[in-house]
Amino acid sequence: MNADLHCHSTVSDGYFSPTDVARRAQAGGVTLWSLTDHDEIGGQVEARQAALELGMDYLCGVEISVTWASRTVHIVGLHVDPACEALVAGLERTRNGRAARAEAMGEALEALGIPNAYEGALKFVSNPDLISRTHFARFLVESGYAESTQDVFSRYLGEGKPGFIAHRWAKLADAVQWIHAAGGEAIVAHPGRYAYTPVEFDALFSEFIDLGGKAIEVITGSHTPDQYREYADVARRYGFEASRGSDFHAPGEGRIELGSLPPLPSDLKPVWERWL
Ligand code: AMP
Ligand code: MN
Ligand code: MN
Ligand code: MN
Repeated sequence: MNADLHCHSTVSDGYFSPTDVARRAQAGGVTLWSLTDHDEIGGQVEARQAALELGMDYLCGVEISVTWASRTVHIVGLHVDPACEALVAGLERTRNGRAARAEAMGEALEALGIPNAYEGALKFVSNPDLISRTHFARFLVESGYAESTQDVFSRYLGEGKPGFIAHRWAKLADAVQWIHAAGGEAIVAHPGRYAYTPVEFDALFSEFIDLGGKAIEVITGSHTPDQYREYADVARRYGFEASRGSDFHAPGEGRIELGSLPPLPSDLKPVWERWL
């Protein structure tokens, strides 16, 4: 079993169409796949059909942007019904405001001496509802303002950097509820990426459990190998099931290719076992 349950397509901030991501997943040896675009399930029908034609098992997925304690947390939903009205309406509300935020990012970058970044980012956008910092990052790299997307986030667009525009996303309780209403399970994505204190992490995980959340990502392309061990321990301590996913967006933008992560530690319960 090679499960890769977190990645992105042109429906959000990935570089390839859902069908092309499916082909890449299969070429990478993935046998159980989920496409988890940000705040958007518009790619699910295409992704599922492509997966089945390529002989992979498929779980419908999504990655929801949440604001918790003034910071952004991502919650992955797996095995969701993409036709669920509560989920569709909730995601639509979550996407609202991205356009105005992007214009404000363009103005902030202009003030830093980088003109026309909004227009430049738009050239990389396929889904007009979903302009993200990644699209700005691609423009800034292409135009020579930064060496890599990582460089863009550390200098301009990461939290607290001069091009960063704070935004209020969904509430944690709402995101978990939409996922449950759609028949899925909620998973805290890449917990190693959040700048919370230990007390805040404990409050986040405790609230997530109270809301019926059952799993966290342990093995993800957004974690370092040290963080694989750290969050495996967190899963043991809180009784979380574990998930695994590359968080693949585009060649050269992340550390990890589809299907190439190490396996979960064998004592952890994979969140996907319930659906096999
Ligand atoms: P947004 O939803 O517009 O805030 O954009 C968030 C996206 O930016 C994430 O899903 C990642 O694809 C990308 N991102 C955020 N932080 C980083 C980082 N430090 N390095 C590379 N990409 C990042
Ligand atoms: Mn992304
Ligand atoms: Mn994420
Ligand atoms: Mn992601």
